[in-house]
Amino acid sequence: MKGHPVASASASPLFFSVLPLHSLPAPLARYGWDAALAEAFAPYAADGLLPGRIVRVDRGLCDAVVPAPSGPGTGSAGAAGLRTVRADLGPVSDPDPTRWACTGDWIAYDPDERAVRALLPRRTAVLRSASSKRSDGQVLAANVDHVLIAVSLAAELDLGRAERFLALAWESGAQPLVVLTKADLVPDPATLAHLVADVEATAPGVSVLTVSAATGDGVDVLTAAVAGGTTVLLGQSGAGKSTLANSLLGSETQTVRTIRDSDGKGRHTTTTRDLLPLPLPGGGVLIDTPGLRGVGLWDAEGGVAQVFSEIEELAGDCRFHDCAHTAEPGCAVLAALEDGTLQERRLDSYRKLIRENEWIASRTDARLRAERRRVWKQRQALGKHLVQRKRGPQR
Ligand code: GDP
Ligand code: ZN
Repeated sequence: MKGHPVASASASPLFFSVLPLHSLPAPLARYGWDAALAEAFAPYAADGLLPGRIVRVDRGLCDAVVPAPSGPGTGSAGAAGLRTVRADLGPVSDPDPTRWACTGDWIAYDPDERAVRALLPRRTAVLRSASSKRSDGQVLAANVDHVLIAVSLAAELDLGRAERFLALAWESGAQPLVVLTKADLVPDPATLAHLVADVEATAPGVSVLTVSAATGDGVDVLTAAVAGGTTVLLGQSGAGKSTLANSLLGSETQTVRTIRDSDGKGRHTTTTRDLLPLPLPGGGVLIDTPGLRGVGLWDAEGGVAQVFSEIEELAGDCRFHDCAHTAEPGCAVLAALEDGTLQERRLDSYRKLIRENEWIASRTDARLRAERRRVWKQRQALGKHLVQRKRGPQR
């Protein structure tokens, strides 16, 4: 994909004269627009549509940032050359809820109809199950590069919860990053190092940072880690997400977030956005939607496997390939438990997440089965009806 000509899809010279692609979406670079997106968008540009990014979704409508017609932007989008528009999502409705537009989606916007014509293909998507009762997936945020998992150092480390968030993060396709918050509450460096090591052991392949919003320690490292990309914050209530968001965003948006956080419901009393640009020079954007609070797993089997990669690796050495690691002879997982290289807590957590994920998957299957049965019954009824007509009324 590297070095792809931006305007490769531009067959007609008219395309260039009407919409000079290189100049048009430049302000959107502030929101993560790049050459690959420009290429995906090229066919829509030819139709006179505008590229944009959804900053908030609200019952069939969305707010999106799009390039301003000319000159400097209105300023309402927080970046020059851009404006925020309210757009109808009707044209991109889909029976599959995981394909509904959400914050972070890149769109083709029709300025005449004030409607979203298409979503550009997603690179990543953070999914959750819509509720504990139903098992429909729901996209919480699209095109996310970094998932920050906030874990508070104020209380005893809840590694099980961290693992759940990690599974969700891996499943999204984004890179997880664990942020241990409130580091000022652990003044002893040796203790802090110990806690970091514990989390690192729990999160293979994931950087673990410590941050104190109170003293500002570690904020610079975090800022650098998320620079230029799209970031979401996950974590338990009270983990310090809002405070962390404020540190990253700077003072400008602080009041908005405070208002939102105090009611705890994410009600939009002001014109809030769920996707906010991070200050320059680092840049990037932060997505903070109310729905991201308290997420459940959604079909995160791959994510679970990644969080517990060392267990999956051990399982490869079990004598039986379908080993359940309970009492089987030649079980490498149980052996590791025995010799202390694997912690009991870790294995329990793994089992719990696998079970939870299987339950969600089975719910989905049950729904599909019910749907198939309904269709099948209809056909059967129709078939009977036809047979009866052929035979003529009985009796
Ligand atoms: P959220 O629910 O995850 O958004 O958490 P908040 O950001 O609202 O923080 C929860 C509590 O932790 C608040 O009382 C904050 O003042 C406190 N807090 C957040 N960050 C820090 C920090 O770096 N140090 C200390 N000591 N307290 C913090
Ligand atoms: Zn085994």
